[in-house]
Amino acid sequence: TVRTRIAPSPTGDPHVGTAYIALFNLCFARQHGGQFILRIEDTDQARSTPESEQAILDSLRWLGLDWDEGPDKGGDFGSYRQSERADIYAKYCQELVDKGHAFHCYRTPEELDELREARRAAGGFTALKPSELKLSDEEVTKRKEAGMPYVVRMNVPEGEGPCPVDDMLRGTIELDWGQVDAQILLKSDGMPTYHLANVVDDHLMGITHVLRGEEWINSAPKHKLLYEYFGWDMPQLCHLPLLRNPDKSKLSKRKNPTSILYYQRMGFLPEAVVNYLGRMGWSMPDESEKFSLQQMIDNFDVQRVSLGGPIFDVEKLSWLNGLWIREDLNVDQLADRLQDWALNRDNLLKVLPLAQTRMNTLSDFAPLSAFLAAGQLPLTEDSFAEIKLDEEQLKQTLQFALWRLEALRTWERDEIFNTLKELAGQLDIKMKDFLAPLFIAIAGTTASFSVFDSMVLLGPDMSRARLRHALN
Ligand code: ATP
Ligand code: GLU
Repeated sequence: TVRTRIAPSPTGDPHVGTAYIALFNLCFARQHGGQFILRIEDTDQARSTPESEQAILDSLRWLGLDWDEGPDKGGDFGSYRQSERADIYAKYCQELVDKGHAFHCYRTPEELDELREARRAAGGFTALKPSELKLSDEEVTKRKEAGMPYVVRMNVPEGEGPCPVDDMLRGTIELDWGQVDAQILLKSDGMPTYHLANVVDDHLMGITHVLRGEEWINSAPKHKLLYEYFGWDMPQLCHLPLLRNPDKSKLSKRKNPTSILYYQRMGFLPEAVVNYLGRMGWSMPDESEKFSLQQMIDNFDVQRVSLGGPIFDVEKLSWLNGLWIREDLNVDQLADRLQDWALNRDNLLKVLPLAQTRMNTLSDFAPLSAFLAAGQLPLTEDSFAEIKLDEEQLKQTLQFALWRLEALRTWERDEIFNTLKELAGQLDIKMKDFLAPLFIAIAGTTASFSVFDSMVLLGPDMSRARLRHALN
């Protein structure tokens, strides 16, 4: 039976790209009466967080992209969280070492830099090969006895030469072994890299078809080799085109909101988001623009995916969402949606602690907090009229704040506060004057709750989108 999977890394906000890949895996599995699995790839322990994992699960569930097996549901092939499978990878890695397909590498970072530098100077491919990396037996023994850290690397063909990889959409792709390096399989902390964990898990979990982003095409030779070393059948590969910004560059949070949480907060309907993602590179046989998940499953054919980069355009999504709101909901259902979306108790309980101290009557609440439920704020030049900064300083403040906030890993009040305070110091602007334009961009007025609290409530993508909007 067909088994597909989505394998997100919980290292940030849930990405629309993850939902897009999940949707196509789900449709493919359902169309064949198979199963769709959710596996959490959290072997990067420094960057993975339980909050991010939870947000990914919640977002996919919100979209209705439900899975048959996963960390929350269990299944016959668990654990579905890679951090809990370290001993499995270690065992399979040892098997490769025993068979001579992998080796312990004691090279220091300095030596690796030198090797790469020498390669660069010589021109051609920079992929490091086993012959360059391997040390003499005596040197290995010496470093081992000195307790130096090591990684396990895979053996790969030394020279150049064609490596054919089959892809369900592209036919046979010719890659070059010259670009394939002696990939690290097990890091010095004993955790596997993506390449080892992915191959081992796809095999043990019975995955038959891997539909993933095309950014992984260049890794396919390594994976193919690993399947050969283990003597396992390789799943069929299907590399889906990556989502793009309207300017055709790869979709990135610097140009577009990429977090599903943003689209949720903006008040998009999950069925419209799924509908729109379904149109990314794919179309219904009758070319209809509006279709449900079930209709997509009923008509799914992966061969209808077109390889030109699909453009994720928020304006088009808005248009489609409008169709869903106007054509598919009666007033009663719309009332329910609104209530679930922003007018629910959880939301009120988050906002009220900020609003209460400023309220004389209940009717003060809506004008105080409307900006939290809004999408973009209607700003004009006049909005910034009262600000004490000159035009240059104003632009700098908004732009630098945006850049700093884009670089934040986590979205917490203290971190936002410290980052912005440091920036104000570097720009040599008084904190109060520095914050004023941020207030206007975020809340539309300087007479509002602390801008840090507001940013936390709005979330990273909405906050950044408002700063970007204020700059235009
Ligand atoms: P950004 O440039 O916005 O930081 P990124 O590539 O760093 O994006 P990640 O957080 O690394 O984003 O990616 C999260 C998940 O989203 C990954 O599974 C990745 O495959 C997927 N993803 C990222 N960008 C795209 C895209 N343009 N199209 C499809 N999937 C994407
Ligand atoms: N963890 C990888 C990612 O986040 C999975 C890629 C794959 O589907 O193989 O993109």
